[in-house]
Amino acid sequence: MCVTCRQNSFQPSRRGLVLGAAATIGLLLGNAAGAKEKKPPPKPQNVLSPDASLERLRKGNARYVEGVSLRHDFKHEREALAGGQNPFAAILSCADSRIAPEYAFDSGRGDLFVCRVAGNFANNDTVASMEYAVAVLGVPLILVLGHDSCGAVDSTIKSLKDDKPLPGHMPSLVEAIAPSVKAVSQQGGDTLGKAIRQNVIDTVAKLGSATPILSAAVEQHKIRVVGGIYRLRDGMVDMVA
Ligand SMILES: [Zn+2]
Repeated sequence: MCVTCRQNSFQPSRRGLVLGAAATIGLLLGNAAGAKEKKPPPKPQNVLSPDASLERLRKGNARYVEGVSLRHDFKHEREALAGGQNPFAAILSCADSRIAPEYAFDSGRGDLFVCRVAGNFANNDTVASMEYAVAVLGVPLILVLGHDSCGAVDSTIKSLKDDKPLPGHMPSLVEAIAPSVKAVSQQGGDTLGKAIRQNVIDTVAKLGSATPILSAAVEQHKIRVVGGIYRLRDGMVDMVA
């Protein structure tokens, strides 16, 4: 299902900080939270509800697909963002060079808080980064972004099937993606496509239930965690979670 089809199915909710967690993290991180309290956000238009954030992503993706992306004035964006950031969405994307979330959603600098790892899975580091995005920066939406023909997922399938570990540090990718692959391995058909989809769905669930910060923000309807799959051929992002 594409984002267009889902836009009216979401419950409205207001964007806001998880105040207790933000205060704690602000103390730990010094100026990041403190500066936000003292100054208005550099881009006030980025203060959006979760639904409005997703709609903004959808419109940006539509422009990207149609080849009518906006022109960005990087010089003045740099100046505006020197004093802080106010991203309207956080994205956990595969590291694949063909994805590029800022292009795929036709966004400017300071708009998206992006973490990328081959296979777009959640581990302690990416969960912590998403916690920062939500609790300190007030991001109202987290999007997990996989893509078709994902090499990380395909390598995991082959490694498990052949019972052959990948070289170097790559087994850590296999370990993270393996549960999603195993969940669909007996279903037959397009195992790669199903595993890619399952990996996005599982990662959305893991982020949304990550205690204490993300789970509380979801329960209070301050954020939404959603998942999409980027089509390499036409650039469209189909929502799957
Ligand atoms: Zn990938």
